[in-house]
Amino acid sequence: MTAVGTDLPDLAELARVSDSLEQQPASAVVAWAWERFGESLVLTMSGQDCVLLDLVIRVDPEIEVVFLDTQYHFPETLEYMERLKDRYSMNLTIMHPLVEPDDRWADDPDGCCRARKIEPMLRALDGKEAWMTGLRRAEAPTRAKAPIVSYDVGKGIVKVNPLATWSDLDVEGYARDRNLPLHPLRDQGYTSIGCWPCTRPVADGEHPRAGRWAGTDKIECGLHG
Ligand code: SF4
Repeated sequence: MTAVGTDLPDLAELARVSDSLEQQPASAVVAWAWERFGESLVLTMSGQDCVLLDLVIRVDPEIEVVFLDTQYHFPETLEYMERLKDRYSMNLTIMHPLVEPDDRWADDPDGCCRARKIEPMLRALDGKEAWMTGLRRAEAPTRAKAPIVSYDVGKGIVKVNPLATWSDLDVEGYARDRNLPLHPLRDQGYTSIGCWPCTRPVADGEHPRAGRWAGTDKIECGLHG
């Protein structure tokens, strides 16, 4: 798999912008990215929740939204996406893997994530300059230092995390204030939702991402690596 971008941006400028956006609302981050990159910007989403989607669409519904259909989403995730399509007029692109359904997740989850998440995402980002994600520092130690704006060297593209500074309470508060529909599995103990073979509900007191690839040492799918 190759990097998607070509021209190296001004990294000092990106660092300055990232610092200046630390105290700004997430909507200002989205607005900056849209103004800076225009149609070369995409939002990638996995169907976990619609907080960032709602924010993005309020800035401009023309911003491209990419949903990665891994073929292993819970039925509830696909139903939730249908609800979001009814609720929002969005510029949606659905990406599918190039492989047929298989059981690779059982003995090679890294390879499965490469084929079902990373490769389709790189195709979606081909020719783009920047991608927005819902990554938050509070989600996991591996994400604790995520900047708001950075250059993803591996993928050759600018990465924008408008929710980087948000806590779980910030997300809940925004969803409540905006009366957003929640993923139907949220109230069944699923605090972080990915593919069904690799996601289980968490018990009280467990880390919210403890249900992802439980029982293995895998903690990220590689999209943010
Ligand atoms: S989360 Fe599991 S099923 Fe989904 S792509 Fe990764 S290994 Fe495959």
